[in-house]
Amino acid sequence: MTASFVRVAVPRPVEDVFHYRIPDHLLGRITPGHVVTAPFGKRTITGVVMELVEEVPLKVRSVLSVSPIPPIEDDLLELARWTASYYQSPLGLIVRMCVPPPGRSGSSKFRLTEDGRSALKDDTADPFGELLAALKRGPRTAAHLEKKFSSDEFERCLEAGLIEVPGSPLSGHAAGEAALAAPSYRRDEDTVHTLTRDQKRVLGSIEKSVDGGSFSVTLLQGVTGSGKTEIYLRAAKKVINMGQSVLLLVPEISLTPLLTSRLEKIAKSSVAVMHSALTAAQKRSSWENVREGRARLVIGVRSGVFVPVPDLGLIIVDEEHDASFRQEETPSYHARDVAVKRGQIQGLPVILGSATPSLESYRNSEVGKYRRLELPERVTPHPEPEIEIVNMADPEVARTENFFLSDRLMNVLKETVDGGSQAMLFLNRRGFSPFILCPDCNYTVPCPNCAVTLTYHRKRGMLCHYCGHLQPLPDECPNCQGTRISPVGTGTQRLESAIASTLPEAVVERLDRDIIVKKGALQEIYTRMDRNEIQVLVGTQIIAKGHDFPNVTLVGILNAEQALDFPDFRSSERTYQLITQVSGRAGRGVKKGRVIVQSYFPGHYSVSLALDGDYRAFYEAEVLIRSELGYPPFGRMGRVIVEGAREETVQNACTDIARHHSDTKDIRLLGPSAAPLPRILNRYRWHLLLLASDHSTLSKALRSAREKSYKGVRVHVRVDPYHLM
Ligand code: ADP
Ligand code: ZN
Repeated sequence: MTASFVRVAVPRPVEDVFHYRIPDHLLGRITPGHVVTAPFGKRTITGVVMELVEEVPLKVRSVLSVSPIPPIEDDLLELARWTASYYQSPLGLIVRMCVPPPGRSGSSKFRLTEDGRSALKDDTADPFGELLAALKRGPRTAAHLEKKFSSDEFERCLEAGLIEVPGSPLSGHAAGEAALAAPSYRRDEDTVHTLTRDQKRVLGSIEKSVDGGSFSVTLLQGVTGSGKTEIYLRAAKKVINMGQSVLLLVPEISLTPLLTSRLEKIAKSSVAVMHSALTAAQKRSSWENVREGRARLVIGVRSGVFVPVPDLGLIIVDEEHDASFRQEETPSYHARDVAVKRGQIQGLPVILGSATPSLESYRNSEVGKYRRLELPERVTPHPEPEIEIVNMADPEVARTENFFLSDRLMNVLKETVDGGSQAMLFLNRRGFSPFILCPDCNYTVPCPNCAVTLTYHRKRGMLCHYCGHLQPLPDECPNCQGTRISPVGTGTQRLESAIASTLPEAVVERLDRDIIVKKGALQEIYTRMDRNEIQVLVGTQIIAKGHDFPNVTLVGILNAEQALDFPDFRSSERTYQLITQVSGRAGRGVKKGRVIVQSYFPGHYSVSLALDGDYRAFYEAEVLIRSELGYPPFGRMGRVIVEGAREETVQNACTDIARHHSDTKDIRLLGPSAAPLPRILNRYRWHLLLLASDHSTLSKALRSAREKSYKGVRVHVRVDPYHLM
């Protein structure tokens, strides 16, 4: 007997899968992994078939249509199931990342497919009947259809294969287009390098695992500029020459353009880039190129870990320590850890690369779960940059009239610019100033919706970085009517204007999240940096990542230990990583680099050991603390977040959950307490941290916390949380 029912994971934040009947005309055409449309409440949704079943307990509705997209392979379905279960994340939201995003392009014409025509004849296309009928007389443009139908509707029809756009990504097109979709900033690296002895040793070792073709994890630890990327490229080339594909995950879209051009050069194969800044059509085109084997190198940000890649032979996670691999919102997961699981399920080697490995990965290499390979020196003959510290807590340290800049940093900056070199200044705070203060009554302007102060942005006004609330800068203090209320503290905007007015002859630009949302802005800045048209680049952590500008000889770090202000057990680790990564931007070319770190806590081990460049010493100091407290990587941490409109009910619910676990065996509680961000968008938040020695104990406790229901509150759980705010 053939199965005539399916279990479908739907894109909703729910744990269940839903049962549907396979209609007669689709019998035998649906397998696990197929994308289908089906009725869901009053709507139609697109879901993924997880399983075929012969019988279902209840009367169920029918699947409407099946998409022409080939079904997701079993191993990827298994990965999705594992991720959903490990992180307690909704399966339908996870498995959705394994299929190309829906979308359409503006001026293209839609027409009916064969399936669309038969659906229209058989009357099985009920929810889409009108849209399909509108196409019966011939192709129509999206603009025309938009007058009557929502874009949601034609996206569903597209996904369902009922309509198509001739010549669009979903109907096949020329190779190489995916690469064009990547941001256009390029730089020619003309020479093919002769590998250093260290690089040869490391590559040889990695090539062995690639040849072996079985699961292994290699932690590649190499100081910035030690040639790790070169190793990825060579390893990738080898895999491609073997007729297989490579998946490379990077933390930031801004890292992809340079990599893409280096990869294309060395691998002579089309590169597909997957990230959120692409248009829907570009995304589908990338997916198609990968699926058809035209692009053998797939570069993605965290969600890229779920992309189906035929003949996958190697997974590389660059900057594996980077927090952006962790998705904290629903569906939460950590792409690095999912990548390792994928390697295990598919039986292939995984490389994790970093100058500053996460404590988790480094410990795995210490206990022998991962193999560790090291590149201890920069490839170029140039020495490591010279690092000096300015103790901002020292009253003797002179400041320019801008209290946040020491004379020392300002003087060296001037020297650098006068000498024709470039500088980067790092400040991890965007906007003009972090708050507005009345010096007469000490009033700061809060967000009406969230328990935070508003940040002042010069052109826009006062902005909440959590909910987006915006209001104008007041003329007088709303509290005491004093007129001296003004912006206090420094963000990147203020730093930019302070530098520009002190060094009027220099071109000063800024790079932060407010800038990169503008289309093309990032590429423009890269290009101008490369052409030496910018002398000083001011920015947030975006400038800390992977760029390689050979003429940058000075890097200034303004508030080295800012992460230490946060109540988070990873803040020392973040501080260490940040100082090391930012410093690594200096002196990448022939000129010697210099790093100036301004710090109020120069004696903190995360600051001083980063200045020494001594990762090992930092690791040893840090693990001592973590192991004593049972924090990761020595134990597992989970977080329960309770939120709701009334503070009292939120607090009571969180306290009740804590009470239930107060004597659960092998579980230790931290809290309950109000979350460090106790209110966002008028929802109150309490949290509770759970520590356990192993994952399954933790997982059980979190499940039971989630199963409780309280009136007026929502309970979320996070497994291996990164953000504790
Ligand atoms: P990482 O990824 O460790 O920061 P990269 O691979 O980006 O290092 O290398 C840093 C710079 O050195 C790049 O410009 C790269 O082209 C160059 N490079 C890498 N390997 C060599 C080598 N063997 N000889 C000369 N230059 C090299
Ligand atoms: Zn707000």
